[in-house]
Amino acid sequence: MMRKALLWVSTNAFLAQRLPQYGFVKRATRRFMPGEALGDALDQSEVLAGSKLSTTVTLLGENLASVAEADTVVEHYFGVLSEIAARGLNTEISIKPTQLGLDFGAEDAQARLEQLLAAASSTVWIDMEGSDYVDATLAMFRAARGKYENVGLCLQAYLHRTKADLEALLPLDPSIRLVKGAYNEPPAVAYPRKADVDQNFVRLTVMMLKAKAAGGKGRPVLGTHDPRMVGEATRMAHSLGLPKGSYEFAMLYGIEREQQERLARGGHAVRVLVSYGSAWFPWYIRRLAERPANVWFVVKQIVR
Ligand SMILES: Cc1cc2nc3c(=O)[nH]c(=O)nc-3n(C[C@H](O)[C@H](O)[C@H](O)COP(=O)(O)OP(=O)(O)OC[C@H]3O[C@@H](n4cnc5c(N)ncnc54)[C@H](O)[C@@H]3O)c2cc1C
Repeated sequence: MMRKALLWVSTNAFLAQRLPQYGFVKRATRRFMPGEALGDALDQSEVLAGSKLSTTVTLLGENLASVAEADTVVEHYFGVLSEIAARGLNTEISIKPTQLGLDFGAEDAQARLEQLLAAASSTVWIDMEGSDYVDATLAMFRAARGKYENVGLCLQAYLHRTKADLEALLPLDPSIRLVKGAYNEPPAVAYPRKADVDQNFVRLTVMMLKAKAAGGKGRPVLGTHDPRMVGEATRMAHSLGLPKGSYEFAMLYGIEREQQERLARGGHAVRVLVSYGSAWFPWYIRRLAERPANVWFVVKQIVR
């Protein structure tokens, strides 16, 4: 119930305008993002590098109001790529298709993605948004993968369709970041029970790791904080003879930091996704929805 209610709040335009004005809401976000500026995310990337954690940075924002904003996003990411290179960081970027203007036309959004792929020397990740965007996002990835090796795609284990999508993508030798999924989806498209999502996550992990063990060149990335998923992946990789580092874990800034550092100390490849930007409201509410206990963290901020 709480998850559903919060996911509804995350899509409510009135609340998105009002709530971020309150200082306590803004302060509470600091747990999940170091700050609104790119510099905040890159400064933290330098700190995390000290703990052998590499990073991915992402500018928050989705469903733009005008097509001009999509061009601004691309310009912004050109600057991000330069700044990453100037600082010598092992940092990648991750982008939502709607930030590239997908709502205003798939062809132009594709062209914007490819401009970034051509400019980047590291992987450019495509986030997966709500289920209405999956077909268009897969099409963007396929078209980009035909020309660029440095494109990666997020797939969501909560969708019934993802097993078939992954099967169809594997012949492309893709870099895939597997996550459970963060949006409010109906039972017709997504597993409503967490146990089924977890089971599917493990099933898809096995498919990705087997493809890697069979000589796949793509990067299998497991985007989860769930120690059970991490344990299953590690065990499966070991039994397939995959060395640490040939598969990766990805987690969000501020979540399970201890586990991130422990895995990195143990020789695993761990990448932390660091978000920044002023349009943090829907993203932040989705983080609360993932763990109702986080709501108490906000309540504590109010009391303080
Ligand atoms: C690198 C990365 C990229 C992502 N990209 C996308 C994307 O493109 N599209 C998309 O739909 N989703 C994305 N997500 C979000 C993802 O779908 C999940 O909603 C999120 O990762 C929580 O699922 P989990 O696997 O950690 O497992 P869960 O079963 O939800 O959580 C397992 C444990 O992790 C910890 N935990 C998880 N979430 C939180 C939280 N918010 N606060 C505190 N503790 C928490 C808790 O200890 C919890 O018990 C991404 C996640 C990561 C890590």
